[in-house]
Amino acid sequence: MSAPAAYDDLRNRLADICDLGGIGQLLFWDQQTKMPVAGANSRAEQTGTLSKLSHQLFVSDEIGGLLDELRGYEESLPEESDEASLIRVARHDWNKARQVPPELTAEMRRSSSLALRAWAEARPKSDYQALKPHLEQNLALRRRYVECFEPADEPYDILLDDYERGMKTAEVRAVFERLKEGLIELLHAVEPADTSPLERVFPQEGQERIAMHVLDRFGFDPAAWRIDPTAHPFMSSPGHKDIRLTTHYNESGLHSLFATMHEFGHGIYEYGIDAGLARTPLGTGASMGLHESQSRMWENLVGRSRPFWSRFYPELRQTFPGMLDDVDEEAFFRAVNAVKPSLIRVDADEVTYSLHIILRFELEQELLAGTLSLDELPEAWNARMKEYIGIDVPNDADGVLQDMHWASGHLGYFPTYALGNVISVQIWNAALEAIPEIPQQVGEGEFAPLREWLTENLYRHGRKFTPVEMLDRITGGPIDPEPYLAYLRDKHLAAATA
Ligand code: ZN
Repeated sequence: MSAPAAYDDLRNRLADICDLGGIGQLLFWDQQTKMPVAGANSRAEQTGTLSKLSHQLFVSDEIGGLLDELRGYEESLPEESDEASLIRVARHDWNKARQVPPELTAEMRRSSSLALRAWAEARPKSDYQALKPHLEQNLALRRRYVECFEPADEPYDILLDDYERGMKTAEVRAVFERLKEGLIELLHAVEPADTSPLERVFPQEGQERIAMHVLDRFGFDPAAWRIDPTAHPFMSSPGHKDIRLTTHYNESGLHSLFATMHEFGHGIYEYGIDAGLARTPLGTGASMGLHESQSRMWENLVGRSRPFWSRFYPELRQTFPGMLDDVDEEAFFRAVNAVKPSLIRVDADEVTYSLHIILRFELEQELLAGTLSLDELPEAWNARMKEYIGIDVPNDADGVLQDMHWASGHLGYFPTYALGNVISVQIWNAALEAIPEIPQQVGEGEFAPLREWLTENLYRHGRKFTPVEMLDRITGGPIDPEPYLAYLRDKHLAAATA
């Protein structure tokens, strides 16, 4: 059956909106990698104009009319077809976007940009009081945002849905409760590892060379990918087959190598999406959590594995002649997997990382519900850092002020990081079941079978399915923290006794 004219009309309109989104990504990438800093004000105007235009185009009555007109066509199609999925996902997005008055959207955007500016000043001074009024404003706006929608089981569901379509707070809470218990238990059981092999000066030129070598083996196609230095690494894909990684070089340690593998995971997800989904709302990853599952998989399950280092450690040594002569492969493996409670989320190891997230997930729900006030927030933060991770927070700069998420108004975003960790192992296990030779292949520097399996089973579908549906298709079940805990126990308790 050929598509009705209304479908082509809808697709064309959505393509225009996606193009504006891609241009927005390009502006962001340019700002982070190339733009002279003094261009920040006009860039803020430009991105504001762009998102206003794309919002206006999207929430139009015309799109609503087309979605209505296409109900019969949608029902005549298999649910998994690209066409039915496009209509279904566009309707979900349109319904959500239409509930929010444009004045509120504009106010949230303004408040976020003011608060981010205040955060950038308050953090180095460790001045929580200077940020607090902005957080108060963001929180009030988020409560108004929640009220725009039909009541959900709990208000936080509405925020979570912006990042994990269809996922419920209760589901996440159950996963995190088990995770917290298991991680704290593991944290107490692991032996401290010697991290001195990484506490050395690795010249940037060598870091660039080894990262490029690893990327090349992973599947970096120079015709479609590039990599540039930036302050805070991210991946951006302004268009189909245009994948831009960024990384941050710091000569003390090898953070940039792991950051590069992490961003590769985001990049390969976007790269693997079916060409037919380009310029549609389906042409991106299924959710933030699934995206993060891929960055964590390439960074940790591949990049911190024994087979990986058995292949790449000799080359790393050659890249930095003489620097690692006193460190054997086992000692290096243990150093890159060391568990060490620390203050800063982005520097956290695999065991404590999710505890940093669970703490934020709990606090932001309490803030939204009003059971915790912003006056009490720093103290609650510090108390939970002590309770979960076992360390004292010396100041707010390294405590409650460390992330920009709350200043930018992004409540409901944090859980996606820990969900990504959990999901990464569930998907990895499914890949291993299908291709048991993956660890040997990794040990031979051969990543195509893993990459192709992930493309076939996850990447190509883009955003056609919800995260819960996607996970069920791949693993045959719901999100489950046990495989992640088993993976960590296996790696860290085995490493400690090896
Ligand atoms: Zn990431």
